[in-house]
Amino acid sequence: MHGASVSFPGMSPEKRISIDDARRGVLEHAARLPDEEVALDDALGRVLAVDAVAPSDLPPFSSSGMDGFAVVAADTTAPPVRLRIAGESRAGAPAAVAVVAGTAIRVSTGAQMPDGADAVVRQELTEPGEGEVVVLEAVEPGNDVRYAGEDIPCGATILEAGTLLGAAEIGGLAAVNIARPRVVRRPRLALVSTGDEIVDPGRALEPGEIRDANRPALTAAARAAGAEVIASLRVRDDREDTIARLAEAMEGADIVATIGGVSVGPHDHVRPALERLGAEKIFCRVSLKPGGQVCFYRAADGTLVFALPGNPASALTAFRVLVVPAIYAMLGRSQTLQTARGVAAVDLPGTIGRTSVIRCYAEMHDDGWHVTPNGDQRSHILTSMIGLPALALVPEDREVLPAGEPVDIEFVG
Ligand code: AMP
Ligand code: MG
Repeated sequence: MHGASVSFPGMSPEKRISIDDARRGVLEHAARLPDEEVALDDALGRVLAVDAVAPSDLPPFSSSGMDGFAVVAADTTAPPVRLRIAGESRAGAPAAVAVVAGTAIRVSTGAQMPDGADAVVRQELTEPGEGEVVVLEAVEPGNDVRYAGEDIPCGATILEAGTLLGAAEIGGLAAVNIARPRVVRRPRLALVSTGDEIVDPGRALEPGEIRDANRPALTAAARAAGAEVIASLRVRDDREDTIARLAEAMEGADIVATIGGVSVGPHDHVRPALERLGAEKIFCRVSLKPGGQVCFYRAADGTLVFALPGNPASALTAFRVLVVPAIYAMLGRSQTLQTARGVAAVDLPGTIGRTSVIRCYAEMHDDGWHVTPNGDQRSHILTSMIGLPALALVPEDREVLPAGEPVDIEFVG
């Protein structure tokens, strides 16, 4: 399932690598997962595993686009004209007879076009008569007719493998009778948050405690990206506990994301625990601010492990920058991160030697997206992440990116 590990020539493993190199390293190990079938009602947000080829025409037959009368267009060239009503074609109940010159068949919207008719005169352009209809305006052949296959012809590829299924895509699959599309299995993701001070939301805090903001945030981010969160664990700052819980988290997971405990202090156990469990370090530390303390490992069983830093803005930024692309790659999603070139609305702060990921709100102007930092950018400030998640990337050689200058932005859903 996994390729060879990336090597970064001339770099020691602890040296910060660029975001691009880090993403490359992640993608090299994030292979597409197997397919499964789902019911259309469960297909929202899933990624198509194979091209969807229409097994039949849509519409399946030529039908009327209006309530009115199916006619031979040539009969209507000199209105008003009286036509005998020879029968009716209703939606779901086609007419038993054909239209011949001098006759019309009453039709409803969606009713099959009767044989012999080549146009529809809508009801508003007629007057009723005794067993007949008076057509008040001439119509061209094809008027108000919906032709078989004009939306999707039989054999056409309507959606390609890798398409994210939304409402319209699911409607298209239903219309051509693909009732159980083949989709890519969701990546199974386990979250492990670390820290003696961390408690679940819902109870009062004891001195020194803080609430676990990251696990709910990352659970949401993982689900939004298309992963299934199969486990959500918390460990204390204890080596053996960390090893045991990490081993548990890896069971059945494609991705494990740990939160916190990734520094080199005496109470940071994630990296030694991963090493004890035999995980291979692919990289550690990325030129990214916040979130640069992130490390990436591959466990012996192939599970990808992202060791994320604990501060909320760091954890979510590193997740968006590195874990979301891994989820998309495992899903084989063709639409990946939405990137754009925007304009800094105000001076954006940079840091020499690190790519600064500035959490922004973005507004569309005549000349494109304008991005403004979402308040305090320090890594423990959670509110910088709230709102439209537009991340502006200030390059590592800029101390400030002045207002008015172009800047790369990423929208992460
Ligand atoms: P650490 O990476 O463990 O050194 O944590 C860095 C900072 O993030 C510390 O202030 C932690 O209290 C905080 N932190 C760690 N985990 C979480 C979490 N799950 N939710 C909120 N804050 C956290
Ligand atoms: Mg900690």
